[in-house]
Amino acid sequence: MKCPVQDAGYQARRSCSNFGLQSCKPSLSTPEALRVGGLSYNRSPGGLDLIRPMILAMCVGGYLFTTATVSLAQSNSFSLNAEQAQAEAVHFLADLVRIDTQDPPGDESKVAHYLEGVLKREGIASEILEPVPGRASIVARLKGNGKKRPLLIMGHEDVVPVDRSHWTVDPFAASERDGVIYGRGASDDKAMVAANLEVFLQLKRMRVPLDRDVIFLSEASEEMSSPAGMATIVDRYWDKIDCEFALNEGGGSLVENGTVKYFGVATAEKLPRGLRLEATGSSGHGSVPRVDNAVVHLAAAVAKAGTWDTPARLNETTRAFFERLATISAPEEAAWYRNVLDAKVQEEFKHKKPQYYSMVRTSVVPTMLNAGYKSNVIPPSAEATLDVRALPDEDLVKFREMLAAIINDPQVKVVAEDTSLSMPAAPPSKLGTEMFAALERAQKQVSPEAITLPTMTTGATDSSFLRAKGVQAYGIGVPKTEEENRGVHGNDERIEGKQLGLFVRYLFAAVTGVAAPSQQFRTATSKESEARSGAQ
Ligand SMILES: [Zn+2]
Repeated sequence: MKCPVQDAGYQARRSCSNFGLQSCKPSLSTPEALRVGGLSYNRSPGGLDLIRPMILAMCVGGYLFTTATVSLAQSNSFSLNAEQAQAEAVHFLADLVRIDTQDPPGDESKVAHYLEGVLKREGIASEILEPVPGRASIVARLKGNGKKRPLLIMGHEDVVPVDRSHWTVDPFAASERDGVIYGRGASDDKAMVAANLEVFLQLKRMRVPLDRDVIFLSEASEEMSSPAGMATIVDRYWDKIDCEFALNEGGGSLVENGTVKYFGVATAEKLPRGLRLEATGSSGHGSVPRVDNAVVHLAAAVAKAGTWDTPARLNETTRAFFERLATISAPEEAAWYRNVLDAKVQEEFKHKKPQYYSMVRTSVVPTMLNAGYKSNVIPPSAEATLDVRALPDEDLVKFREMLAAIINDPQVKVVAEDTSLSMPAAPPSKLGTEMFAALERAQKQVSPEAITLPTMTTGATDSSFLRAKGVQAYGIGVPKTEEENRGVHGNDERIEGKQLGLFVRYLFAAVTGVAAPSQQFRTATSKESEARSGAQ
């Protein structure tokens, strides 16, 4: 099979070489030829070769896309070739995973320059933002007619470090096995960057008339807050990303038995607001017990803090989350979700669903202890670190006072950690917006059997910087199985190519839903696109 792009004589900007591919003529006639997204490709004996299928997919996809675009112009409707979009997004993801951006040190400029090249080849101007040398973010904009305020689609370039000894594959090879792409960042967050890029390019190629600007942002330093990250971007470059709505990472969408059960849309997140317990007492010889021993007082305080059932409450997001979760759960669990604040349900959550236990309260988790230096010396002080994740509306001063009252020990002080570089407090994004409605419509379109679940993440993302500026920011993500979810920040991080493709269609529908609501869009298969172009 020859490259259809070359056959069709398309030499211009959509030729395969424009996607950074070297050749359009893989030898594909062996019996090992497989099918991916309706496209034949050759599989290497090792089974971990992502490049050749990508080359072919891109060639075929590029061709099909071009023919689809021709028909678009004539019919005045817009068609997304699902297979081509998936293949191209997987290709971008593989390229991004191969760029090592472990943070620290991050070195994200390599990703920013890669993206700059892709955008440039598509005729899209971009801007590199590099407040710290070597740690660049990149921003680009598709102009709308200005009727509405912009939409920002964003993802982060850096990844958490790897311990190679625990991986079964090279974490920076983007190897593929049974349609699953492995690598650090495959899920967090390079899949989001790849999907955003794909949707952004599709809008540009189709020349979709937009009611609002669509801004693409790929940002540095999310994993370890630093002056290269979102705090600086919001502070120094706000005019470049000022928007009404934003789509970012953060929503966990679940795949069960091969289908998506729910699409999570994160509208709020808890705030990391660490505390320290400082105990003091008199020092002395370990052979003589003292009632003011700092270690004993600290240990008692830690036990009280760690077992304190902090007040539980619901907000708009978590109330909707549990109500909707009840509709897709087995009877016993559904009963829990309909009576979340019941003390007995809270007890069940504590043991069986700690994630949900945390979701309805400010949580206090002791994580570090520091005391003493010699076994026979009573130290004059002892210290514990508490990981506190606050509900968005928590009054932290009052909360500290409550904790001090629970501990009830004049020898133990509750001290706030410095969180000046951490995520700012911000109100949750609303459920009644045009953006949330578009996300729900997008879910119904690509996965009608699933539901949309508004969620509040117990971890933190850069959306809080945007929410603090009044932006309605929503966290979404490529659907994953529970097992795949465990790979995030863990070993053998991976994502299914098919689910990335589904996510691209979902994102495309959501973006056009708020940026081009009066236009008609459809998703076509390669066969349909071919038939359509043949009919011209
Ligand atoms: Zn992330």
